[in-house]
Amino acid sequence: MRSENDLLQPTQIGQNLSGPSGILDLMQDLGDALAQAREQTSGEAIAMLGGGNPAHIPDVEAAFRKRWLEIADEPGALEHLLGDYDPPAGKHRFRETIATYLNEQFDWDLTAHHVAITSGSQAAYFSLFNILAGELDQGKARIAFPLVPEYIGYADQALSNEALFAWAPKITRDGTGRFHYSIDWEQIEGHWPGNIAALCLSRPTNPTARCAQNEEIKRLLKIAEENDCYLMLDNAYGLPFPGVVFSEKASLPQWNRNLICSFSLSKLGLPTTRTGIIVAEPQVISAVIAANARIGLANGSIGQGLIEPMLRSGQVDRLCSNVIRPYYHERCQQALQFIDHIFQSQQIDYAVHIPGGAFFLWLWLPNLAISDQELYEILKSKGVLVVPGHHFFFGLPPNLSDWRHRQQCLRLSYCAPWEQVQRGITIIAESVRKFSGASTT
Ligand code: PLP
Repeated sequence: MRSENDLLQPTQIGQNLSGPSGILDLMQDLGDALAQAREQTSGEAIAMLGGGNPAHIPDVEAAFRKRWLEIADEPGALEHLLGDYDPPAGKHRFRETIATYLNEQFDWDLTAHHVAITSGSQAAYFSLFNILAGELDQGKARIAFPLVPEYIGYADQALSNEALFAWAPKITRDGTGRFHYSIDWEQIEGHWPGNIAALCLSRPTNPTARCAQNEEIKRLLKIAEENDCYLMLDNAYGLPFPGVVFSEKASLPQWNRNLICSFSLSKLGLPTTRTGIIVAEPQVISAVIAANARIGLANGSIGQGLIEPMLRSGQVDRLCSNVIRPYYHERCQQALQFIDHIFQSQQIDYAVHIPGGAFFLWLWLPNLAISDQELYEILKSKGVLVVPGHHFFFGLPPNLSDWRHRQQCLRLSYCAPWEQVQRGITIIAESVRKFSGASTT
């Protein structure tokens, strides 16, 4: 008989699913800090610069509250929303609305059969990565990331080991306090690894806030076409909603069967409704729908019911361009100025990735004498939560395992109340100054 301690014997897949992961740590920190803030009646709140919670923007919240009350007032509407399972694809009317909306926005040619709803886009990536990557009859299919650092939530999604592959970026410092990554096209086009089921990138990218240019997306799509694979474009922060993209020129490419796009209601301000949207050719959509039914029967309906008329009436677009994007853009500038002021006055060597959207700043500390994980622990003990950067560098070849840059970065969110952001940045600067050594890039 097994002892109490070893009754649980996870399988190989079970170990992948239940082992430690960056996304688990991140969401745990986020949930604990927000719960503590709600219960706290005195003292200083944790400076919450970790996690990916969107900001609470009063005008956006007022619009959702109004719509919520409308549903409650309409006879039978709330009862339907709370009391009836949807089909595993999502509400048919919502899927039609999404198809029409995207056709109007980007001149695409979609029907509801190109659209599936998932329980958040995180769940969509779990399904897609495991549908596409892993053992084949011959060889192994992988998901490839044109540039890491990429979203921490992709890192542990594939149940098959070594199913993720990534290229390292080129790094350019842009004067005082700024730098940017660029895609290493020579590596990608010159050394295509084969057996790639899909390229994947988030746009704007979590964690760097880099927003891939239209030309880069076109070029990746062409590579996908030439190599018979998909290009997954994760628009969680991007177009068309919540639209937190700072350049007016950014757009989505022409519709193409190699494209798989994901969208989410989370960063609009509705993360708890767990509503993800996948747009792809109908074959992919059928596979995602089948996975939805197996994993969770159906998706949550609340986000779909809440937002559908707001999408049709243009209210979502107005909120995105008049309220949400300006809000984050202003916050971004404020946080950058504050970092420049504090880090320069303390003569710390630092560089922030040039932000093109989303709601993070990616801070590179070339002279850090401890690891990003050690710095994270020190900051946590001082009441500041950030996300240590190494989690975002996954899928790289073994010869880059001792690349110091992986342990020199932090992701900072600027969504928390401004007092917390300022206090957090001040404490980060003090700690970095204390633990700075010689430059090792
Ligand atoms: N993609 C990116 C780039 C994200 O940052 C996140 C969440 O932070 C997600 C996907 C998943 O979001 P959700 O499952 O809430 O749609």
